[in-house]
Amino acid sequence: MSDIMTSEQRSENMRRICSTNTQPEMKVRRLIHRMGYRYRIHVKKLPGTPDIVFSARRKIIFVHGCFWHFHQDCRGGRIPQSKIEYWKPKLLRTRERDEAHRKALVELGWDVLVIWECDLREISELEARLKEFLH
Ligand SMILES: [Zn+2]
Repeated sequence: MSDIMTSEQRSENMRRICSTNTQPEMKVRRLIHRMGYRYRIHVKKLPGTPDIVFSARRKIIFVHGCFWHFHQDCRGGRIPQSKIEYWKPKLLRTRERDEAHRKALVELGWDVLVIWECDLREISELEARLKEFLH
């Protein structure tokens, strides 16, 4: 994130990136839809407001951006050295929150799959994983 941006631009940027209906999420939704599955989105009554919910199958998919959800061992989850102090605590909290939501959902009897933004680079592989998960 550049220092040239005004704080207004920056928060606009944050809003766009952090909001629901992110680009990776839309891609995964379109893919699942094409595969013939139907689902609900952003189910607020469940822990973490899961992105994609298959109620009858008791299955849930989260689509996580690699930076915003601090993907471990992923280039996309790396914080620029100059911004580490600012971002690291925030992103670590997000990661903890994600994990708490996942555990809560599993305890409620849901199967949970996390798709990372970087998984979208190999669509055929991703499709196979989705098929196996949703079968
Ligand atoms: Zn990643």
